[in-house]
Amino acid sequence: MSGAAGKGGGGGGGGGGSSGAPTGIGSRSRGGKVRVKTAKRRSSSSNRWLERQLNDPYVVAAKAAGYRSRSAFKLKELDEQFNLLGQVVRVVDLGAAPGGWCQVVLERRPKARVVGIDLLPIEPIAGVILFEKDILDDDSEALLLEAIGGLADLVMSDMAANTVGHQATDHLRTMGLIEAGLDMATRLLRPGGNFIAKVLAGGGDGALTAVLKRSFTTVKHVKPPASRKGSSEWYVVAQGFKGLISESA
Ligand code: SAM
Repeated sequence: MSGAAGKGGGGGGGGGGSSGAPTGIGSRSRGGKVRVKTAKRRSSSSNRWLERQLNDPYVVAAKAAGYRSRSAFKLKELDEQFNLLGQVVRVVDLGAAPGGWCQVVLERRPKARVVGIDLLPIEPIAGVILFEKDILDDDSEALLLEAIGGLADLVMSDMAANTVGHQATDHLRTMGLIEAGLDMATRLLRPGGNFIAKVLAGGGDGALTAVLKRSFTTVKHVKPPASRKGSSEWYVVAQGFKGLISESA
């Protein structure tokens, strides 16, 4: 276990991208778009990624606002639409690195108890308890439950499996993670609590919706504006947890 109670700056950090082309990387065209120079050590796909980052208004806005990820805006947009954060006291963030969603929760609810977990290390965030750990580890759920100090109002999952480039495989791997997150959420959430998760479009999402509808009063599928149009991701917003249904019922 490598849990770390975070005490440190809530803003800044990596992953924010850049609003201008750093020296030696590229130049701005007359339309203001950054063009990236081809460098010997950079592949064309890396160049495309870099160019997209430098020209992405959400990356620019994330950096300006001190958010660690452009994903922060997805949670803000979901919150605006569904008021997910207005009353929360306890929040669990599955796949929390680099910490953008944790920052957004604390911005809205500075006194909320937030617990995050990720395979990757996360720079400390004041007031957030962080675990560098696989959610699939046997002891992860017990650690989260102990750290959150009661049942959660919101469990959020922005987890994505590392892609291998084969769409069907990537989809299945990410769906597996979401199912694990949902399974965990049914024991971490209080009755009436909410669950949100990133899902990739593909074969298994119908089955997931059916499972969600058994456990939550309302289930909505949304593509927040900050989610890239070309990506197959969307978000499921499940509200009004009906409570843990016993196996024998
Ligand atoms: N919401 C985050 C933010 O705003 O900073 C971004 C999350 S990022 C898109 C997805 C994260 O899921 C990655 O950091 C990845 O390491 C994490 N992840 C993937 N599989 C995981 C697993 N089995 N256990 C814990 N974290 C996992």
